[in-house]
Order: sequence, then C-alpha cells, then structure tokens
Amino acid sequence: MSERKRIAIVGGGIAGLTAAYRLSQAGYEVTLWERAPRFGGQAGAFPVQGGKLEYFYHHLFQSDTQITELIHELGIGDRLAWLPSNVGYFADGTIYPLNGAKDLLTLPILPFHDRLRVGLVTAYLQRVKNWKPYEKVTAKEWLTRAMGERAYSRTFGAQLDAKFGRYADQIAMVWFWGKIWLRTTSRRSPLEGEKLGYPIGSFDVVIDAIVEGARNAGATLISGSGPSELTQNDDGSWSVKIEGAEPQVFDAVIGSVPSPIFAKLAPQLPDDYRKKLLSLDYEAAVVVLLELDRALSDIYWMNIADPSMPFTAIIEHTNFVAPGNYDGKHYVYLSKYLEPDDPYFTMPEDEVIASYLPHLQKVNTAFDRNWISRYWVFRERAAQPIITLNYSERIPDHRTPLSGLYLANTSQIYPEDRGTNYSVRLGNQIASMVKGDLTA
Ligand SMILES: Cc1cc2nc3c(=O)[nH]c(=O)nc-3n(C[C@H](O)[C@H](O)[C@H](O)COP(=O)(O)OP(=O)(O)OC[C@H]3O[C@@H](n4cnc5c(N)ncnc54)[C@H](O)[C@@H]3O)c2cc1C
Repeated sequence: MSERKRIAIVGGGIAGLTAAYRLSQAGYEVTLWERAPRFGGQAGAFPVQGGKLEYFYHHLFQSDTQITELIHELGIGDRLAWLPSNVGYFADGTIYPLNGAKDLLTLPILPFHDRLRVGLVTAYLQRVKNWKPYEKVTAKEWLTRAMGERAYSRTFGAQLDAKFGRYADQIAMVWFWGKIWLRTTSRRSPLEGEKLGYPIGSFDVVIDAIVEGARNAGATLISGSGPSELTQNDDGSWSVKIEGAEPQVFDAVIGSVPSPIFAKLAPQLPDDYRKKLLSLDYEAAVVVLLELDRALSDIYWMNIADPSMPFTAIIEHTNFVAPGNYDGKHYVYLSKYLEPDDPYFTMPEDEVIASYLPHLQKVNTAFDRNWISRYWVFRERAAQPIITLNYSERIPDHRTPLSGLYLANTSQIYPEDRGTNYSVRLGNQIASMVKGDLTA
C-alpha cells in the first residue's frame, strides 16, 4: 500500500478546521496548528455565567446553508435554534424599531419621500441577481444617485462610515448589494419576521464537533503553537518549522490565516503574489462585552446613528438567546470597526470602558455602572476584508505560484461578505482542490 500523503494546515479557525475534517475523512494524514490556545478563530467562545459565549457576537442567517448542513452532518442539528430577532436604529436620542418596510416608512428621522426612496432602492436591490456591474461602482456613488444625498447619509451612508471608516467612500456597491441580498434570502417571506440561527451553548458547540470529527478521522490538531516558516524543499515537498522542534515534512500546506501573516510565513512566495496578498486590507474590530444584571433595552441588534458615540452598534445577545441560558445574566456587546492605527485599537481596557459607558445612558437613561458585574474588551486585526472596486480581479488564487502551497482565508470570500458559513464553504473548496491536485 502506498504511503498516505501528508497535509499541513496553518490556522484553526472554521475554514482550517473544516479543511482538516474533510481531508482526514478522505484518508490524508493531516496536521493542523492553531497559534491561539483554543480553536475557532474569530468564531470562538469562552466560559461565562452558566455557559459559553462568543468573543465576538455571532448568529447565522437562513441563507447560511453550508454551515447548517455541516452542523447536521456532525450530528448536532438539535443544538441549532432558529430564534426571532429584532433590529433597532438609534438616532436623535431615540430607539426606532427597524424590522421591515412598515418600520422604514414610519421612520421619522427622514422626510417621507426620502423614506420612500430608501424603501424603493432596497426593494429593487432585493431583486437584482447579477452583481457583476456593481463591482465597478462605489456604494456611495450608486446609492447617492439612487436615493439622494440626504437619505444616503442618514441611513446606508452612516452604516458604511461606521463599518469602514476612512475607506467608506471606496467600498464597492457589490459589498452593499451582498448585505441586502443576504437579508432578503434569509427571510422566508417579506411579511414574516426574521429568524436567525444560533447553536445553543455557543459556536464552540460547532467548533468542538468539527475538532472531534477531524480527530476521529485521524487528524492531529494542535493548539497553542504555530509554524514560524514554511519552506519548499528541492523535491517539491514542504518543511514546516515550529520553534524549538525539528521541521516536519509535508506534501502540501494550506495557510488558513490572514494574508499578511501568510506572506510572512512563506518567504519564497514570488513578489507579484506577495503584492496581491498585501494589497488587500482588513478593518479591525474592538468589541466590548458587558455582563449586566438586567436588560439594557429590548432590541437584539441596534445600529447607532449618533456620531458622538464611540461605538456603532449595540448587540444585546440576551434579547436573542434568553438570559435563562446564562443563569439570568444579560450580555451586551458594544461594537466598533476601525483602522488599526485608530487609538481605540490599542487603548488600555479601562480607558475603552471609561469612554464607552457614559453613552449607554443615551440609550437607557436609567443605566447605571452598578448594573455591570464583569466586562471584557476583545480585539481582532483582520475582522473585515475591505471590498473596493474590481475586487474579483485582485483576489489571490487559492493555488499559490509555489506547487503544494495553498491559501484559504476570508479575503477570498466574494461576492458575499465574510462569515462562518463562507469559511465552511472555503474549507470544503480548498479540501476538494488539494485532493484533486494530490491525486492528479
Ligand atoms: C466582530 C465580528 C462579528 C462577526 N459576526 C459574525 C456573525 O454574526 N456570523 C457569522 O457567520 N460570522 C461572523 N463573523 C465572521 C466570522 O467569525 C469569520 O468570518 C470566520 O470565523 C472566519 O473564519 P476563518 O477560519 O476563515 O478565519 P479566522 O477565524 O480568522 O481563523 C484564522 C486562525 O488562524 C490562526 N493563526 C494566525 N496565525 C497563525 C499562525 N502563524 N499559526 C497558527 N495559527 C495562526 C488565528 O489564531 C485564527 O484562529 C464575525 C467576525 C467578527 C470579527
């Protein structure tokens, strides 16, 4: 019998883990390294009162079919709940419900004809299937033309500013279309309230099941350490160097880490591919999580359209998944996307908290610091790929120019926006590609 081919995977987020699961199922000898002490990357969770919770707020849309199928395949379908969600919009000192056409048409922050324009533009985009032309125009240009400057800047423009900061005016229309499309395909009918998915017990339930599935199929998954260099040998094989250990040799290597990290790991990559890797950037995120003894509001997802506030969304997890799952505690995320040179990205935790808390009274005048029993501040450098014009032409290929070296990361998810569903798709795709190449 011929020897089993050996595959190394760098990065134990959802994409790397899915690839490890698929390739070990297919009979390859797989070793995966995750630098952090735990698996799951951006979707990972940690212990809180009565259970576990994500570092960064997470839910699934009904259009997230790839991860839903995987969850069922792993035998944990009974843990996946589809729960009603509600959305609010905080502007001019008031929380407005924003759960569909009716709420939009009565939203008093805009004159009626602007509301109508926003509604008509949204309804139009929900019907558009051909996204290709939207690669060539910015969201700002297209939306301003379609709905007028005032309606744009009070609604979608404010959201783009919140998410993309100094890049907001460069974001391609295709990214915005993707968001509308996702929300549309996530509803069974426009009249039905939106239901979002959540694995009861946290996304770690899914992550643990993929890890277990991969290990049962023979994969070696290591957390708490990562390679420092990937080097191609004269015979085409790959040496993976781990500090303090002898290099290990593999037939193929998959990098499932952000592009700048991948570029550093593989110094032999030719310049043109390296340039591609480094030309695509990501927004970072700073997310505060508060543990409260009571609810802050009755809204799950509240977009903040108040430029004086330092965060841009309040996501009250326990208005989505009941506090009974957490011994009655309430969990509220305060979210902010930013450029990594923004002072908030490196600000000490107590300063972030001191700057955020006074603003919570704007949302609930009764809010008091004594409601908080614990808080955390989490940061992610590669939180959101920045999708600018003609992005499809600039995505680095999964097959790098070096034979046997592959890349699978969130910058390659397109035209949809990044998310756990698409990382599962990425893991499935890269596993099929590597299998095909190794058997060719
Ligand atoms: C604030 C926020 C909210 C989100 N909300 C949602 C949501 O509601 N729904 C949803 O579906 N998605 C959401 N996402 C996105 C989703 O979590 C990610 O798209 C997905 O988890 C990315 O998985 P990945 O495996 O592609 O990458 P990552 O999760 O980034 O995994 C990459 C892994 O590589 C590891 N690594 C880096 N360098 C090395 C090295 N040298 N050696 C070894 N390992 C290394 C990292 O530690 C990390 O674990 C959110 C993301 C953020 C930041």
